[in-house]
Order: sequence, then structure tokens, then C-alpha cells
Amino acid sequence: MRQCGVNPAHILHTLVWALALVAAIVHSSPVLASTATQCPEVSLFTTLKQIDPLRDVCFTADNGNNYSAEQIASGEVKLEVSKKQELVFSNSDNSYWILIRLRNPSPVIQHWYLQISYPPLDHISISIFGGPKTTVHRMGDRELFASRPVDYRYYLQPLDIEGHGARELVLQVRSSGSVNIPLALFQSDALVHQVEGQSLEQGIFYGALLILVLFNAMLFITTWRRQYFYNAFYMLSAGLFLASMSGLSYQYLWPLSPWLANTSVPLTEALSILAFVLFGASFLEIDHELPGMQRMIRVMIVLAMLSVAASFIVPYHAIIRWNTAIALLCMLTLYGIGIQRLRQGYGPALWYLISWSLMLLGTSIYALAAFGYAADYLANEILMQIALGGQVLLLTYAAVIRVRQLIERVLAMQTHAKAELEQVVEARTAELQSALQTLAQVNDKLKRQNIRDELTNLYNRRYLDEAIEQAFSVARRHKMPLSLILLDADHFKTINDSYGHTFGDECLRGIAQVMAEVVKRPRDTVARYGGEEFVIVLPGTDLNGARHVADTLLERIRTLPLTTPGGKTLQITVSAGVAQLRSDDINVLSWFQRADNALYEAKQAGRDRATLTE
Ligand code: GH3
Ligand code: MG
Ligand code: MG
Repeated sequence: MRQCGVNPAHILHTLVWALALVAAIVHSSPVLASTATQCPEVSLFTTLKQIDPLRDVCFTADNGNNYSAEQIASGEVKLEVSKKQELVFSNSDNSYWILIRLRNPSPVIQHWYLQISYPPLDHISISIFGGPKTTVHRMGDRELFASRPVDYRYYLQPLDIEGHGARELVLQVRSSGSVNIPLALFQSDALVHQVEGQSLEQGIFYGALLILVLFNAMLFITTWRRQYFYNAFYMLSAGLFLASMSGLSYQYLWPLSPWLANTSVPLTEALSILAFVLFGASFLEIDHELPGMQRMIRVMIVLAMLSVAASFIVPYHAIIRWNTAIALLCMLTLYGIGIQRLRQGYGPALWYLISWSLMLLGTSIYALAAFGYAADYLANEILMQIALGGQVLLLTYAAVIRVRQLIERVLAMQTHAKAELEQVVEARTAELQSALQTLAQVNDKLKRQNIRDELTNLYNRRYLDEAIEQAFSVARRHKMPLSLILLDADHFKTINDSYGHTFGDECLRGIAQVMAEVVKRPRDTVARYGGEEFVIVLPGTDLNGARHVADTLLERIRTLPLTTPGGKTLQITVSAGVAQLRSDDINVLSWFQRADNALYEAKQAGRDRATLTE
């Protein structure tokens, strides 16, 4: 018979069909030698810890349940010797019979275990002949987990063989899908050693995977970005798929449900496909960057969902083939999209492609093992774990890089916004400052206008009133002399009437200029009191000093060069009343009144003179 076996349950992804084709061509010649000789014995030497019995087991396929265990054991049925060829069969309609003849050459009792390290097998019955009585044991993942002689993810049959005793083990294996029967014999301590090593390795793998699932779930909760949810979803379903294939999920998650033990393999495989399509679409930002591909993604999602639904109803061997085809289609499509995104300059696509390349490599070798080209199933299980572990680490790393990019983008936006804001604030501040400056200038001008007389630019009456009060109180406090000069232009009405108001204004400006030039001390105040009348306040100046100022003013005004509109040179004069503050002046008014009286006297006395009053 042909031993070219395809076991699709082993295979996640690509290359399966291609490899099947290659395998079919390469394996066109019979692999196992057909020997009619009696089945050889396996000697259980006490010095051996572990035996690979494959060289010496005999087997046959049974299409139609024609044989019994007794017939196989007694040698009535013609069997073939395995000669180290792995027992991998593709025809799922058959049941397979295997005969293992064991001999204990030592005089002491020995405790051995037969291990079948392929958990998806449906039904296994082991009949043991040659002992005190013939026993039959049933196991398989269509049987309750508790039916197994030993609670372990692989099938273990304990064998106690007395000194110089012999046993014939007859195995009958039936399973939907392909049948892989990896056999090993262990002494108890060697078995413990193997189990211990595997537990450590499994614990590290599933522990790390769980942490990554939680990490991505937390990333999802904090960022609400779907790609983290899909990543966690993918890791969880791919991890559950491997756990189901390795028998761990049946042992620990649902030992009471043979139905789930069988359904979980295609179901978790279909969920993994759905998850990696969703993750790929989200991670590669197909929505925004490759909208043309959206329809393709939708088709893949629908196909994956169909796979999920079909896992519950379609027979195992059929759904596994369908899932494998869908996985292949989706993987290659996403791989192509990944390359396209990388070409568009999307950096994280590189990590995506590397991670899927790793997965492809892992599944290819895994697939090779499924055809019997590569090492044993256990080694391939570890290989798949390494491939998946590497992949999820890379994908998580890519996801974290993505977070960093997003944070950097947000920070850049913030910095930009801040810079812009600063610019706006600067511009507004400058505007405000210039507005304030203008306001201050206007204010200054207003203030100036408020205290200055417009025609002459001398202080006005309002300012004078305050200044004179202040000078009055300062002089009082410090007992300092303070003098006042009242000045009035002579016959000014006549000048106005004769030469016009404009000329009159010019004369007033001329008088004001002279006053400003003559009265120079900072504390002195020169003001236009009204009309053609002026007031000069001289702090720290006694009557003599004031008289001197008045005389100088009179002299300068008398000689002021003025030309009338008619071109005539005109001489104008002023009269002045001078008064010094006296200690009996109770307020400004009495003092001012005396100066006014003096001015009146000057007018009466003929004008163009200054009159003093004590
Ligand atoms: P007196 O010598 O007695 O002072 O005679 P006067 O004409 O100067 O006296 P009066 O008080 O009768 O007249 C003042 C005149 O000053 C009246 C007005 O025409 C003139 N005057 C008052 N304010 C101004 C002004 O701002 N501009 C001009 N051009 N004339 C003014
Ligand atoms: Mg007057
Ligand atoms: Mg006058």
C-alpha cells in the first residue's frame, strides 16, 4: 500500500497543497517493504530508557472491519514491517492495526509506557495479550478524557512485564482525516523526564502568549484602536489552535467534552484565519490607504466566517481541507497587500512581512513533517510554537512601533500648534503694544491739550489754578518767598480793531514767546489767564526779583519786532501788577487781588509799566 499520507490537521497555511503534490510524485514507489516474515520482537533491556519501536512494529490497513485483535496477535493476518517509516496514513476510511511484540529479557519485572504522541486521533483500542489475562483499553479524543489510563495530553498505556515475560500489543486506530501514529516506549523515569521538559517549554510558550494577549488587550482598552484587539484575538485563537492540536486544551480546558475536543481544531483554525484577516486589514490601514482592496478583505472575512460556522457542522476531514485552502488564499492576499504597503513607504509593513515570512517558514517545515519528510511530531510542535511566538512578538513590536509613531505625530502636532499659538500671541502682543503706544501718545496729547493753551502753548487757566494753589502751600510750609506777576496787553482792543484778529493772535503769540524765554526756572509757571491777560508765578522769588522779571518782560515786549498786515512796524506794550505773598494772605485770592490792584494802578498811571505792591 502507499504510505504517502497527507494530514491536513497539521497544516495551517500555504505550501500544503504544493507539498502534497511533491509528496505524491516523490512517493510514487512503495516506501514500506512488504515482508511476510513474522513480526520481530522488541527487547526491553533494563539499560534502555526509551525505545523507538518503529523499526519493529507490524501493521495493516483494514477496510471494512474484517479483522479482530486476536487474529492480528495470532499471526493469521498478513502484516507489513514498518522499518522506521513513520506510520502516516491518508485514507481515513480504514482502521489501522498495529502489532508490537515486547519481550522482557531480564529476570526482574519492568514498568514501561507506550506513548502515542498524536492527540487528534479519534479512537484507539489497545489489546494486551500474553499477560495473566488479556486486557483491552480504549482511548482517543472521541472518548472521554477520563477514559485514558494516564491523565496526559498524549496517549499513554502503562505496561508491567514480569521477568522473562512477553506481551503482544495490538493497536486499532480509527480517525476522521488522516492518521498519524507516532509511537515511543518509555521507562517511568524517562517519561517523567520528558514530561517535565515539555511542561516547562509549554509553560513558557503559553505563558508568554497569554501575557502578549493581555498586553494587546490593554493597548486596545487604552487606545481603542481595533488593531490591538485583532492582534489579541489572533494570538488567542492561534494559541488555542496549537493547544488543541497538542491535546492540552482537551486535558485542561474541556476534558468532559469529546465534541469540543474534536471541534476545537477546525474552529480555532477558522477563528485564527478570521483574526489575521481583520488584523492585517487594520494593521496595514487598508481602509484609508488601499480602498480598492476593501472588497477583497470583505470577501475574505465572509469566507473566514463561513469557516467558523462550518466547523460546527462539516465533517472534520472536509472542514480541515476547506480551512487550509481559505488560510492559503487569505495569507497570500495579505502578503501581497503588505508588499504593496511597503512600496508605498509604510514602515511597519516590513515587520508584518517578516513576521508572516517566519510563520510561512514554520508552517512549511511543519507541513513537511506532516508528510513524513522531517523530524518527529513533537519537534514540529515546538517549531510551530517558535514560529507563532516569533510572529506574535514581531507583530506586537510592530504594534508598539505604531503607538510610538502615533505619539510622535501627536507631539509634533502639539509642538506645531504651540509654535503657531506663540506666534499668534506675539503678533497680538505687538498689536496691543502699538495700540497702547498710540493710546499713550493720544493720551499725552490730550493731557497736553488739557493743560496747555492752544494759541500760545503756555499753560492754561486750569493748570494755573492748581499750580498756584500748590506754590501757595509750599511757600507757606517752607516760609519761602513767592511772587506773582499779572500782565495785560495795552489797548489790545484797538490793535484788534485796527489790524484784524489774526494779527492780534500773532501779537499774543509773540508776547507768550518772550515770556517763555525770560521766565526759565523749572518751578516757575507762565500761563495765559484769558484773553490778552497772562499770569506768572515765581516760587522762591521776592518782590525785587519779581520786579526785575517784570521790567525785563516789559522791555523785551516793547522792542518786539512786529509787522502789521499793512507792512507797518508796530510797537506793543504791556502793563504789569506785581505782588509778593504776605504772611497775612489767608488764601490765594487776596494775594491775587493785590496783584490785580497793582495792575490796575499801572494802567491808571499810563500803561507800559509795572506796579508793585507789598
Ligand atoms: P487796556 O489797555 O485798558 O487793557 O485796553 P484793552 O483794549 O487792552 O482792554 P480790553 O479789556 O477793553 O480789551 C481786551 C481786548 O483783547 C478785547 C479783545 O478784542 C482782545 N482779545 C482778547 N482775547 C483775544 C484773543 O485771543 N485774540 C485776539 N486777537 N484778541 C483778543
Ligand atoms: Mg484786559
Ligand atoms: Mg488790555
